[in-house]
Amino acid sequence: MKKRIVIALGGNALGNTLPEQMVAVKSTSKAIIDLIEEGHEVIVSHGNGPQVGMINQAMIELSRADEKQPNTPLSVCVAMSQAYIGYDLQNALREELLNRGIHLPVATMVTQVRVDADDPAFQNPSKPIGRFMTKEQADIAAAKYGHEMKEDAGRGYRRVVASPKPVEIVEIGAIKALVDAGQLVICCGGGGIPVTLNGNHLKGASAVIDKDFCSCELAKELNADYLIILTAVEKVAINFGKENEQWLDHISVDEAKEYIKEGHFAPGSMLPKVEAAMDFASSAPGRTSLITLLEKAKDGINGKTGTKITL
Ligand code: ADP
Ligand code: MG
Repeated sequence: MKKRIVIALGGNALGNTLPEQMVAVKSTSKAIIDLIEEGHEVIVSHGNGPQVGMINQAMIELSRADEKQPNTPLSVCVAMSQAYIGYDLQNALREELLNRGIHLPVATMVTQVRVDADDPAFQNPSKPIGRFMTKEQADIAAAKYGHEMKEDAGRGYRRVVASPKPVEIVEIGAIKALVDAGQLVICCGGGGIPVTLNGNHLKGASAVIDKDFCSCELAKELNADYLIILTAVEKVAINFGKENEQWLDHISVDEAKEYIKEGHFAPGSMLPKVEAAMDFASSAPGRTSLITLLEKAKDGINGKTGTKITL
């Protein structure tokens, strides 16, 4: 049966460098279009951690080289990352659709997402962006730029910024219109460009919204049947990386709550995915969340793999 599916792409769908992304979007497009070929309606969102880090770094170098160029706000870096990733992704999708004889218009929507200026996240930066660094490199970055650095799930050090919760997707009306017209839309890239409302003015915020939470909002707003979070692991585990590691096939929102309490999911990586999955699954009857490997999207929707989260 035809389902409306919001797909949230993780870092492995896009790679870490320009050439990596050019290659990665090809296999990513195949995984997405497999679902379209099965008759489903798909809306694509994606992360931007390495890309926004890279753009931010480039803009820092620019302002260093040219004193007339002030530092670029993070919100602008997110906007740049949406355009750059959308450009590669929409072209790869277009080509793969044509290769399969499917005539479907594809477009990327520059998406702003309103956050609350009083969100407590602004007092506690927690979202990793940019490349992984050694402890020594991290100490230098902290001293030089005043960036806050944190160790990320055993994989090295990264800069952390505030990660407020999404309140409202500003361009949702335009996204809905395209989706309802049957077009393939890439939106909410990098969790959306964070903005706060000042009268009629939208002001860019120095933050990054978690793409998992934003994708959940998107899925709710579009009244989707499925939220599929595609990442680097086939399933969610309890006791992850330990001797008694156990991969989960299907959990209820209540079970997920217990596992969160027991600390099974790493903040900044698996935790926001599980939280977004729980939020979507409990937002209305019949809504299903799925966390799985990019290459397993089709198997996942057909119930063959992945971790399913339902009410
Ligand atoms: P993405 O770029 O897709 O958002 P992240 O690296 O942020 O990916 O999060 C996915 C990673 O979370 C996995 O690759 C895995 O290393 C890590 N992880 C942390 N806790 C768990 C867990 N309990 N089960 C599975 N993976 C976990
Ligand atoms: Mg992530």
